[in-house]
Amino acid sequence: MTQPQPQPGILDIELYVGGKSSVQGVRDILKLSSNENPNGPPASAQQALAEAASTLHRYPSSDHSGLRAALAELHGLEAQRIICGCGSDELISFLCQAYAGPEVDVIHTEHGFLMYRLYAMAAGARLVCVPEAERHVDVEAILSAITPRTGMIFIANPGNPTGTKISDEDLAELIAKTPKTVVIVLDGAYADYVEGWDGGARFVEAHDNVVMLRTLSKMYGLGGLRVGWGYGPQHIIDVLNRVRGPFN
Ligand SMILES: *Cc1c(COP(=O)(O)O)cnc(C)c1O
Repeated sequence: MTQPQPQPGILDIELYVGGKSSVQGVRDILKLSSNENPNGPPASAQQALAEAASTLHRYPSSDHSGLRAALAELHGLEAQRIICGCGSDELISFLCQAYAGPEVDVIHTEHGFLMYRLYAMAAGARLVCVPEAERHVDVEAILSAITPRTGMIFIANPGNPTGTKISDEDLAELIAKTPKTVVIVLDGAYADYVEGWDGGARFVEAHDNVVMLRTLSKMYGLGGLRVGWGYGPQHIIDVLNRVRGPFN
Protein backbone atom coordinates (compact mmCIF):
# COMPACT_ATOMS: atom_id res chain seq x y z
CA MET A 1 0.00 0.00 0.00
CA THR A 2 1.23 3.44 -0.87
CA GLN A 3 -1.01 5.63 1.23
CA PRO A 4 -2.72 5.65 4.63
CA GLN A 5 -5.91 3.59 4.77
CA PRO A 6 -8.98 4.45 6.87
CA GLN A 7 -10.55 1.91 9.21
CA PRO A 8 -12.60 -0.81 7.48
CA GLY A 9 -16.08 0.28 6.44
CA ILE A 10 -15.40 4.03 6.37
CA LEU A 11 -15.17 4.20 2.57
CA ASP A 12 -18.54 2.43 2.29
CA ILE A 13 -20.27 5.40 3.92
CA GLU A 14 -22.34 7.39 1.45
CA LEU A 15 -21.73 11.13 1.70
CA TYR A 16 -24.70 13.02 3.12
CA VAL A 17 -26.74 14.74 0.41
CA GLY A 18 -29.18 17.34 1.65
CA GLY A 19 -32.63 17.78 0.12
CA LYS A 20 -33.11 20.25 -2.74
CA SER A 21 -33.40 23.87 -1.62
CA SER A 22 -34.24 25.55 -4.93
CA VAL A 23 -36.67 25.05 -7.77
CA GLN A 24 -36.08 26.90 -11.01
CA GLY A 25 -38.59 29.69 -11.52
CA VAL A 26 -40.06 29.49 -8.00
CA ARG A 27 -39.23 32.21 -5.52
CA ASP A 28 -40.93 31.36 -2.24
CA ILE A 29 -39.82 27.87 -1.42
CA LEU A 30 -41.19 25.93 1.53
CA LYS A 31 -38.44 23.40 2.03
CA LEU A 32 -39.85 20.33 3.74
CA SER A 33 -37.06 17.83 3.19
CA SER A 34 -35.21 18.77 6.39
CA ASN A 35 -38.41 19.49 8.29
CA GLU A 36 -37.30 23.04 9.02
CA ASN A 37 -39.93 25.00 10.88
CA PRO A 38 -41.66 27.26 8.30
CA ASN A 39 -42.37 29.84 11.04
CA GLY A 40 -38.67 30.45 11.67
CA PRO A 41 -36.99 30.72 15.07
CA PRO A 42 -39.01 32.22 17.95
CA ALA A 43 -38.36 35.89 18.76
CA SER A 44 -37.27 34.97 22.29
CA ALA A 45 -34.54 32.70 20.92
CA GLN A 46 -33.36 35.39 18.51
CA GLN A 47 -33.12 37.85 21.38
CA ALA A 48 -31.21 35.40 23.60
CA LEU A 49 -28.78 34.73 20.77
CA ALA A 50 -28.20 38.47 20.22
CA GLU A 51 -27.54 38.91 23.93
CA ALA A 52 -25.06 36.03 23.92
CA ALA A 53 -23.07 37.62 21.09
CA SER A 54 -21.01 39.78 23.43
CA THR A 55 -19.69 36.75 25.34
CA LEU A 56 -18.51 34.73 22.36
CA HIS A 57 -14.88 35.08 23.46
CA ARG A 58 -15.63 32.88 26.48
CA TYR A 59 -15.78 29.09 26.44
CA PRO A 60 -19.22 27.85 27.40
CA SER A 61 -19.86 25.77 30.50
CA SER A 62 -18.67 22.28 29.74
CA ASP A 63 -21.64 20.44 31.25
CA HIS A 64 -24.63 22.41 29.86
CA SER A 65 -25.97 22.59 33.39
CA GLY A 66 -28.30 25.52 32.71
CA LEU A 67 -29.91 23.89 29.70
CA ARG A 68 -30.14 20.51 31.41
CA ALA A 69 -31.84 22.05 34.43
CA ALA A 70 -34.35 23.85 32.21
CA LEU A 71 -35.11 20.68 30.20
CA ALA A 72 -35.46 18.65 33.40
CA GLU A 73 -37.95 21.11 34.81
CA LEU A 74 -39.95 21.42 31.59
CA HIS A 75 -40.22 17.67 31.05
CA GLY A 76 -40.18 16.45 34.65
CA LEU A 77 -36.89 14.54 34.27
CA GLU A 78 -33.68 14.15 36.25
CA ALA A 79 -31.11 16.73 35.10
CA GLN A 80 -28.11 14.48 35.80
CA ARG A 81 -29.46 11.91 33.36
CA ILE A 82 -29.70 14.43 30.49
CA ILE A 83 -26.85 14.88 27.99
CA CYS A 84 -26.75 17.66 25.40
CA GLY A 85 -25.32 17.35 21.92
CA CYS A 86 -24.56 19.35 18.80
CA GLY A 87 -27.96 18.33 17.47
CA SER A 88 -29.27 14.91 18.43
CA ASP A 89 -27.11 13.76 15.52
CA GLU A 90 -24.10 14.06 17.76
CA LEU A 91 -25.74 11.87 20.40
CA ILE A 92 -26.35 9.18 17.76
CA SER A 93 -22.62 9.42 17.04
CA PHE A 94 -21.70 9.07 20.75
CA LEU A 95 -24.04 6.10 21.13
CA CYS A 96 -22.49 4.31 18.14
CA GLN A 97 -18.97 5.14 19.25
CA ALA A 98 -19.66 3.74 22.71
CA TYR A 99 -21.92 0.76 22.01
CA ALA A 100 -21.37 -0.28 18.38
CA GLY A 101 -18.16 -1.41 16.69
CA PRO A 102 -16.76 -4.33 14.72
CA GLU A 103 -18.57 -7.60 15.55
CA VAL A 104 -21.64 -5.63 16.66
CA ASP A 105 -24.90 -5.49 14.71
CA VAL A 106 -26.93 -2.28 14.69
CA ILE A 107 -30.59 -2.69 13.83
CA HIS A 108 -32.44 0.14 12.10
CA THR A 109 -35.72 0.11 10.22
CA GLU A 110 -36.47 0.59 6.55
CA HIS A 111 -37.53 4.24 6.77
CA GLY A 112 -35.46 5.11 9.84
CA PHE A 113 -33.05 8.04 9.92
CA LEU A 114 -29.95 8.11 7.68
CA MET A 115 -27.67 9.11 10.56
CA TYR A 116 -28.17 5.77 12.34
CA ARG A 117 -26.54 4.07 9.37
CA LEU A 118 -23.77 6.61 8.89
CA TYR A 119 -22.59 6.62 12.49
CA ALA A 120 -22.94 2.86 12.91
CA MET A 121 -20.76 2.39 9.83
CA ALA A 122 -18.28 4.97 11.07
CA ALA A 123 -17.96 2.84 14.20
CA GLY A 124 -17.28 -0.24 12.06
CA ALA A 125 -20.52 -1.99 12.98
CA ARG A 126 -22.66 -4.16 10.72
CA LEU A 127 -26.02 -2.77 9.69
CA VAL A 128 -29.21 -4.80 9.86
CA CYS A 129 -32.10 -3.10 8.09
CA VAL A 130 -35.52 -4.39 9.17
CA PRO A 131 -38.43 -3.89 6.73
CA GLU A 132 -41.43 -1.86 7.85
CA ALA A 133 -45.04 -2.92 7.27
CA GLU A 134 -47.07 -0.33 5.36
CA ARG A 135 -44.61 2.32 6.58
CA HIS A 136 -45.10 1.29 10.21
CA VAL A 137 -42.22 0.02 12.34
CA ASP A 138 -42.76 -3.74 12.63
CA VAL A 139 -41.94 -4.83 16.17
CA GLU A 140 -42.19 -8.55 15.40
CA ALA A 141 -39.75 -8.14 12.50
CA ILE A 142 -37.28 -6.33 14.73
CA LEU A 143 -37.55 -9.04 17.38
CA SER A 144 -36.86 -11.76 14.84
CA ALA A 145 -33.78 -9.86 13.56
CA ILE A 146 -32.15 -9.88 17.00
CA THR A 147 -29.17 -12.24 17.38
CA PRO A 148 -26.39 -12.56 19.97
CA ARG A 149 -24.46 -10.00 17.87
CA THR A 150 -27.10 -7.31 18.22
CA GLY A 151 -25.80 -4.33 20.17
CA MET A 152 -28.19 -1.51 19.36
CA ILE A 153 -31.65 -0.83 17.94
CA PHE A 154 -32.52 2.62 16.56
CA ILE A 155 -36.17 3.61 16.17
CA ALA A 156 -37.55 6.99 15.11
CA ASN A 157 -40.93 7.34 16.82
CA PRO A 158 -42.87 8.99 15.24
CA GLY A 159 -41.00 8.18 12.06
CA ASN A 160 -39.60 10.55 9.45
CA PRO A 161 -40.78 10.81 6.72
CA THR A 162 -43.50 8.23 7.44
CA GLY A 163 -45.16 10.10 10.31
CA THR A 164 -46.32 6.79 11.80
CA LYS A 165 -46.02 5.98 15.49
CA ILE A 166 -45.54 2.75 17.40
CA SER A 167 -48.18 2.09 20.05
CA ASP A 168 -47.15 1.98 23.71
CA GLU A 169 -48.14 -1.70 23.83
CA ASP A 170 -45.89 -2.60 20.90
CA LEU A 171 -43.03 -0.58 22.33
CA ALA A 172 -43.45 -2.26 25.70
CA GLU A 173 -43.39 -5.66 24.00
CA LEU A 174 -40.25 -4.78 22.03
CA ILE A 175 -38.43 -3.65 25.14
CA ALA A 176 -39.59 -6.63 27.20
CA LYS A 177 -38.47 -9.18 24.61
CA THR A 178 -35.14 -7.54 23.70
CA PRO A 179 -32.10 -8.78 25.63
CA LYS A 180 -31.17 -6.37 28.44
CA THR A 181 -27.67 -5.96 26.98
CA VAL A 182 -28.99 -4.28 23.81
CA VAL A 183 -29.25 -0.48 23.77
CA ILE A 184 -32.67 0.61 22.48
CA VAL A 185 -32.66 4.18 21.18
CA LEU A 186 -36.03 5.91 20.89
CA ASP A 187 -35.51 8.93 18.65
CA GLY A 188 -38.17 11.46 19.61
CA ALA A 189 -37.24 14.19 17.11
CA TYR A 190 -40.99 14.52 16.41
CA ALA A 191 -42.33 13.69 19.86
CA ASP A 192 -43.36 17.33 20.35
CA TYR A 193 -45.94 16.93 17.58
CA VAL A 194 -47.85 14.11 19.30
CA GLU A 195 -50.14 15.10 22.15
CA GLY A 196 -49.61 13.03 25.27
CA TRP A 197 -46.44 11.35 24.02
CA ASP A 198 -43.36 11.96 26.18
CA GLY A 199 -40.93 10.72 23.52
CA GLY A 200 -40.33 7.55 25.47
CA ALA A 201 -39.24 9.05 28.81
CA ARG A 202 -41.57 6.66 30.64
CA PHE A 203 -39.70 3.71 29.10
CA VAL A 204 -36.33 5.22 29.98
CA GLU A 205 -37.45 5.45 33.60
CA ALA A 206 -38.43 1.79 33.70
CA HIS A 207 -35.45 0.16 31.93
CA ASP A 208 -31.67 0.09 32.11
CA ASN A 209 -31.14 -0.13 28.36
CA VAL A 210 -33.48 2.49 26.84
CA VAL A 211 -32.31 5.95 25.71
CA MET A 212 -34.51 8.79 24.41
CA LEU A 213 -33.24 11.43 21.96
CA ARG A 214 -34.87 14.83 21.47
CA THR A 215 -34.04 17.95 19.47
CA LEU A 216 -34.76 21.66 19.37
CA SER A 217 -34.28 21.63 15.59
CA LYS A 218 -37.79 20.85 14.44
CA MET A 219 -40.68 22.02 16.55
CA TYR A 220 -38.60 24.81 18.16
CA GLY A 221 -37.32 26.08 14.80
CA LEU A 222 -33.65 26.06 15.85
CA GLY A 223 -31.99 23.66 13.40
CA GLY A 224 -29.15 26.09 12.78
CA LEU A 225 -28.29 26.32 16.47
CA ARG A 226 -27.57 22.55 16.67
CA VAL A 227 -29.13 21.70 20.03
CA GLY A 228 -30.20 18.17 20.80
CA TRP A 229 -30.41 16.18 24.00
CA GLY A 230 -30.69 12.69 25.29
CA TYR A 231 -32.15 11.08 28.41
CA GLY A 232 -31.11 7.70 29.66
CA PRO A 233 -30.13 5.50 32.55
CA GLN A 234 -27.25 7.00 34.55
CA HIS A 235 -24.75 4.32 33.51
CA ILE A 236 -25.28 5.05 29.80
CA ILE A 237 -25.21 8.84 30.23
CA ASP A 238 -21.94 8.50 32.16
CA VAL A 239 -20.46 6.52 29.27
CA LEU A 240 -21.64 9.05 26.65
CA ASN A 241 -20.14 11.89 28.67
CA ARG A 242 -16.76 10.20 28.35
CA VAL A 243 -16.83 10.38 24.56
CA ARG A 244 -18.40 13.85 24.51
CA GLY A 245 -15.99 16.73 23.94
CA PRO A 246 -16.11 19.22 26.83
CA PHE A 247 -17.29 22.13 24.69
CA ASN A 248 -19.72 20.42 22.31
C1 LIG B 1 -34.02 15.93 12.28
C2 LIG B 1 -33.93 14.61 12.91
C3 LIG B 1 -32.99 14.33 13.92
C4 LIG B 1 -31.91 15.19 14.45
O1 LIG B 1 -31.80 16.44 14.21
P1 LIG B 1 -30.71 17.35 14.91
O2 LIG B 1 -30.85 18.62 14.18
O3 LIG B 1 -29.36 16.71 14.74
O4 LIG B 1 -31.07 17.44 16.37
C5 LIG B 1 -32.99 13.07 14.49
N1 LIG B 1 -33.86 12.14 14.11
C6 LIG B 1 -34.76 12.36 13.15
C7 LIG B 1 -35.70 11.26 12.80
C8 LIG B 1 -34.82 13.59 12.52
O5 LIG B 1 -35.71 13.79 11.53
